[in-house]
Amino acid sequence: MKYHRPRGTQDIVPPNVYTWRYVEGVFDSTFLRFGYQPLRTPIFESTDLFLRSVGEATDIVSKEMYTFLDRGGRSLTLRPENTAAVIRAYLDGGMHRVAGISRLSYIGPMFRYDRPQAGRYRQFHQVGVEAIGNLSAMLDIEVIEVVMTALSELGFEGLNVKLNSVGCPVCREDYTTVLGEALEKHMERLCDDCKVRARINPLRVFDCKRDSEVKKELPSISDHLCDECSSHFAIVRSLLRAVGRSFELDPQLVRGLDYYTKTTFEILHGSLGAQNALCGGGRYDNLVEQCGGPSTPAVGFSAGLERIISVLPAGVDQERSLIPRIDFYVACADEDSAERALKAANVLRTFGNVEVDASMRTLKTQLKHAEKTRARVTVIVGADSPHRLRWKDMDERSQVEVEDDGLRSFADEHSKHGNEGMA
Ligand code: AMP
Repeated sequence: MKYHRPRGTQDIVPPNVYTWRYVEGVFDSTFLRFGYQPLRTPIFESTDLFLRSVGEATDIVSKEMYTFLDRGGRSLTLRPENTAAVIRAYLDGGMHRVAGISRLSYIGPMFRYDRPQAGRYRQFHQVGVEAIGNLSAMLDIEVIEVVMTALSELGFEGLNVKLNSVGCPVCREDYTTVLGEALEKHMERLCDDCKVRARINPLRVFDCKRDSEVKKELPSISDHLCDECSSHFAIVRSLLRAVGRSFELDPQLVRGLDYYTKTTFEILHGSLGAQNALCGGGRYDNLVEQCGGPSTPAVGFSAGLERIISVLPAGVDQERSLIPRIDFYVACADEDSAERALKAANVLRTFGNVEVDASMRTLKTQLKHAEKTRARVTVIVGADSPHRLRWKDMDERSQVEVEDDGLRSFADEHSKHGNEGMA
């Protein structure tokens, strides 16, 4: 083999692709049920968008971006996440001029140059929503409910929601000073990355997977929230309890992106190992303004499809009915019948899925293959019967002859009676 897929990427091949389509469909319909409209943005954006929004001191920006110059000398980056791009599109499209809340959803590939391991890829797929335009804690609850509803429809139970508030620039300023001072005292115990983080953006120390012992001894953001952030957080917790959603407070949950303010949350799955977050999200009340728009609060989540699919509850991914069945298998007995076989296939496509056997193998071999595809009906076209086709019902094991010209009305009648899968 001369070529292989790039490291950290995956081919999603049949039949697994049907599991993907099923999971995407569940998210898609859940988004619509909550009033979120689908949005598609380019897979690359101006590099500056991510530097300013995700933050220069984050791992994503400092180590993981696929950045390149195009032929016009512009610096572009394959999107490492989609929130910044959604906000860019929201402003570009003038959605901020429309009163009310913009509810947008997305599904698509993201790119991060990270060390590939289970649950961590260089190209991976996220689904998510953004609710833009209101400060209400009701929206924080809504986005959590959107993802929890979709996950529960996929059969997940007992998922662990972790919750925190990372405050706003007002309380963050005080907290960052206190945190910076505390980190100074522990500097020799920090890893090399955190030594740098401690000086340029201390909050990012909490993203480190290595320095867990030091992190336990650091001051907590929860003790430094300003009145407004503290009251917002209290309302979020009480509304979550009111809707019966259990959660666990995690004062170290800061998420690896700079744009978050107030609420942050993650949904974890016990059997995922080190990469155990199925989903992450939170509020980002300053991002729209940072991207050049008017001051506009917003909240959203993003979930990783690879991880969700890897731990899909038993049964869903094995569900054979996810794989669309072939309705008609057109067996073509000889080269002289090619034209008739193609015409018959075109007629049958009005009534269902058609696979044409173009192999010119013996009829016996073609019929064996038809059995394997689990086709409902095999239509045999051969020069020995120049104007008639043989219609073989594979479930009932019966066979009738049908005039070429009468195929449409015959198929029409037979797809109305029985054969529930046919269109
Ligand atoms: P983030 O954008 O980092 O908040 O991630 C949101 C979700 O995307 C995570 O909870 C994961 O499910 C998924 N995710 C993030 N990075 C990766 C990756 N490199 N490979 C696979 N899934 C990822």
